[in-house]
Amino acid sequence: MINGRELQNSTQAPQSQNTSLNVFEIAILARVKWNLHSLNNEGTIGNVTEPRTVVLWDGTRTDGVSGEMMKHIHAYWTWLQAKQAEKVSLCSACQSFQPQRADADYKGLNAKDNADAMKKAIERCILCDLHGFLVQRPTIHRQSVVEFGWIVGVPGKFNRDIHVHARHAAAERGISAEAEVEEEGVSEEQTREQTAERAGRTEVAAQMLYHRPTRSGVYALVTLFQPWRIGLNEVNYTYALGSNERTSRYKLALNAYEWTIKRPDGAMITTRLPHIEGVEGIVLISRQAAPVPMLSPLREDYLEKLKTLAEKQGVEFKEFNDLDELVDILSDLQKSVPFQMPFSGTSSGGE
Ligand SMILES: [Zn+2]
Repeated sequence: MINGRELQNSTQAPQSQNTSLNVFEIAILARVKWNLHSLNNEGTIGNVTEPRTVVLWDGTRTDGVSGEMMKHIHAYWTWLQAKQAEKVSLCSACQSFQPQRADADYKGLNAKDNADAMKKAIERCILCDLHGFLVQRPTIHRQSVVEFGWIVGVPGKFNRDIHVHARHAAAERGISAEAEVEEEGVSEEQTREQTAERAGRTEVAAQMLYHRPTRSGVYALVTLFQPWRIGLNEVNYTYALGSNERTSRYKLALNAYEWTIKRPDGAMITTRLPHIEGVEGIVLISRQAAPVPMLSPLREDYLEKLKTLAEKQGVEFKEFNDLDELVDILSDLQKSVPFQMPFSGTSSGGE
């Protein structure tokens, strides 16, 4: 993206709506405690599924869930709300949650005018507006308004195992039904031995062994939401939407945040539905055109440091020690409205 970020640094102009309810940016920096999940994996080779592994600056290998997965979950909860609300619009691609978004519905966009194409793409669809897209013809790119980093296992505070499961084909024993029976958990070494042993005696296709990861840990979560960019056409720097529509999209996005943290429905939830034990952290809210400070919850002292940084910068902050407290903070933010930059020539499409 060329510029929203440079712009926000250089713009000292006063807010067009002079109210303390404006929200420029919101960051949530937290530690989530998730047990026995497998929300994101590298992939499956043969009958073995590999968990995500990430490497920190000092070479420490740790467990992770990708930002792509978290963003997908947020997009899904946004979509669900949009589908049930009559007045919320979605493009034809996003109606059926196609990942290409605007690019799979490019025909309604003006191929000869990038600014006009961007305006139309933003106006017609909340998901394209909030989560971004890359259209090939005309070539226009929208950066997401919602950003997630990797969910990272705090070193020393996570565990993972690979469990072996057996699908028993009951038909082989003269019964027509097929049953799935789970074996008890074993270590990775035991798993390999057992696999070798069983490979010799199980030759029936319906009956198979498979290996799946299970992970538990305290994870660092970082996410940034930029309400000031909702409805902003970054081809010509005008707002494609009126303030009512921008506020309505802001509220849906906030609600999707709440659902994402309450219900991180990633991979393997049919058999690895996470045991969510808790969340604690801090929400930073910038009400002027200035970026909120970010510091990773990988640091033990992140709360203290962020509070100091926020105070120095005049950024609002709210701490939370559990899920219900975070929900209260997000509910309270529903009363705010997205900040609008005083760009000249702001068009007011939408409502
Ligand atoms: Zn769309």
